[in-house]
Amino acid sequence: MSEQEALISAVIRPEIRALTAYKVADAAGYIKLDAMENPYTWPEEIKAEWLKIIHKAEINRYPDPEAKSLCQVLKEYNQIPAQSEILLGNGSDEIIQLLLMALPANSTVMAPEPSFVMYKQIAQCLGLNYQGLPLLADNFELDLAVTLATIKSQQPEIIFLAYPNNPTGNLFDSDAIEQIIQQSKGLVIIDEAYAPFTDFSFINRLTKYTNLLVMRTVSKLGLAGLRLGFIAGDSSIINQLNKARLPYNINILTQCSVEFALSHPDMFDQQTEILCHERARMFLQLSTLKEIEPCPSAANFILFRTAKNKATDIFNSLKEQGVLIKILSPQKGLLSDCLRVTIGKPEENNAFIKALKSAI
Ligand SMILES: *Cc1c(COP(=O)(O)O)cnc(C)c1O
Repeated sequence: MSEQEALISAVIRPEIRALTAYKVADAAGYIKLDAMENPYTWPEEIKAEWLKIIHKAEINRYPDPEAKSLCQVLKEYNQIPAQSEILLGNGSDEIIQLLLMALPANSTVMAPEPSFVMYKQIAQCLGLNYQGLPLLADNFELDLAVTLATIKSQQPEIIFLAYPNNPTGNLFDSDAIEQIIQQSKGLVIIDEAYAPFTDFSFINRLTKYTNLLVMRTVSKLGLAGLRLGFIAGDSSIINQLNKARLPYNINILTQCSVEFALSHPDMFDQQTEILCHERARMFLQLSTLKEIEPCPSAANFILFRTAKNKATDIFNSLKEQGVLIKILSPQKGLLSDCLRVTIGKPEENNAFIKALKSAI
């Protein structure tokens, strides 16, 4: 062992040394359909109004540590019940980290598999016990009997359920989720990152269950660059979490920009409506290709299965043709032979379909 290796093993926990970093592909020059971003920007007149707000921002001062004004706007925009509290994060990723940091040592974290990789990644990084809950192979639905039995035997401190799920795109059965909330003695986090693309939500059940928290983000709506997520729930829990939050985690430019952006709900509604329409069109187009099996989606992406062992070739061929999507087959299991495409502008989606037809 070299001196530097000895230093690293002395100062970095083994569970962190064992991790592989979350890699993001370099997208320069590609039609970018890999990261669930909203492809639309803002009309010039709205950008001009925004610049006036930015102009007034006092960046020499610390931001409002509680982001009170933004919290109010978010509560209204998302119809959070008046008696629920919210906590903001630098992206919902930071909120996942905060939730897991607050857990007692040796806690157990559960999430379906496949699902959003950060639940497992952060749990392992913090040295917590992580337990995956395998989804059913035919429809990516929760295996309720197995899930409830696992909860009963392992008593997890926290369960994450992405609703709709990433990367599969489906909404889990809501009765199954309610049973999980009812039978779990720990926290249940419903991660509604894709709320802009579905009418289904657990926000109106926040007042019914004190162990339920609902997390959302503005990233998929069209503000991924600003990094803002929030979690809503019972004030007694949010107040505890707030103690572990860094005081100035939401910078002033994010605070004033998101507040400004959400004062233009019609603009986002229009963009979201186009994307949902494109999602339906893309699903139909993918369904006509006999080598491709798309999964129904309530989010702004579609997961699809290729012929056996063809995912890498198709991914590479798309890339050579200038279209970047996400390859999931390295995650193995139910995602073997799977690729995920984000819904883009109509012309981007057409370019993807054309490239895909030539790739298969
Ligand atoms: C994208 C995504 C997030 C992360 O959102 P940020 O607010 O950008 O950190 C969280 N959960 C799920 C399920 C996601 O797909």
